[in-house]
Amino acid sequence: MSAPILQSVLTCPRCGYAKEETMPADACQFYYECTRCGALLKPDAGDCCVFCSFGSVECPPMQARGSCCI
Ligand SMILES: [Zn+2]
Repeated sequence: MSAPILQSVLTCPRCGYAKEETMPADACQFYYECTRCGALLKPDAGDCCVFCSFGSVECPPMQARGSCCI
C-alpha cells in the first residue's frame, strides 16, 4: 500500500483563502477554522471531513480504502 498524501490545500468557501494543512494520517477532521476570515468550516452533506469537501487532496482514510471514517 502506498503512503497516503498528508498535505492538502484547504480552500475556504467564504473568503477563498487557500492554506496548506497537514492531515492526520488516520483520522478525519470535522471542523476547520479559516485562519483568515475565521469561518468555521464543516463538511458537505455526505462527507465526514473537511478535507474531502474543501481540500485539494482527500483525507488519508479515503485514499487508503475509498471511504472516509465512519
Ligand atoms: Zn475564510
